[in-house]
Amino acid sequence: MRSKIVAGNWKMNTTFQEAEDLLYEIADLLNEQGKGDADVIICPPSPYLEMASDIGVENDFFVGAQNANDHESGAFTGEISAAMISSMGITHVILGHSERRTYYGENDAIIKNKIDLALKHELVPIYCCGEVLAEREKSNHFEVVRRQVSEALFHLDKEAFSKIIIAYEPVWAIGTGVTATPDQAQEMHAFIRGLIATKYGDETAADTTILYGGSCNAKNAAELFSQADVDGGLIGGASLKAADFVTIVNSFK
Ligand code: PEP
Repeated sequence: MRSKIVAGNWKMNTTFQEAEDLLYEIADLLNEQGKGDADVIICPPSPYLEMASDIGVENDFFVGAQNANDHESGAFTGEISAAMISSMGITHVILGHSERRTYYGENDAIIKNKIDLALKHELVPIYCCGEVLAEREKSNHFEVVRRQVSEALFHLDKEAFSKIIIAYEPVWAIGTGVTATPDQAQEMHAFIRGLIATKYGDETAADTTILYGGSCNAKNAAELFSQADVDGGLIGGASLKAADFVTIVNSFK
């Protein structure tokens, strides 16, 4: 189902106490200011998932993991599986983030396995795609995103695909302070929706939630979210500041 969503990716930040304080600060602001008809998903570091989920249940936000392994279980020291995440009552998982692709060698074949395991364990995948700067400069960005989306997702049947949230995150915009213009975001989101329409039909395409990520903040969110095919954001840095994050949540017209 297509929804308005703001998801916060805390990455590898916060101690346990800082995380708990930030979650309560966000919860208090959401309770004071409301969140319109947006869904809020907070993705803290994995050791804090259960604590975050307890606060989320009381305060009407979802909690997601930032990653899950591409194997069901076994001898993968230090890793966390989709089954483990799901067994804690967590609802969402970010998969294919560019930092995982860049620093941990994840490609779309690996991410495809992760998507399948997430769905098997009833987690909603937030699938990240997006080009690096050199690819955009060579006008190769549509082809890169087409390949990422089709290789990781288009093996799914229509029913399974309908559970996916897509996040378009141009890598040159992540953590750089350089944001895609609203026109650039809209152009790529419309392109992704077109790919989905070709594969699964217009209805599925119209029902898919496509988020924008990459230096989205309290100042630029409203303009980005006003674009026809932008259904919200995946927020990194600004999700660590409660007031900014809740302003972003309330940036839908
Ligand atoms: C992200 O890491 O998904 C992200 C969008 O980061 P930032 O908002 O800091 O660019």
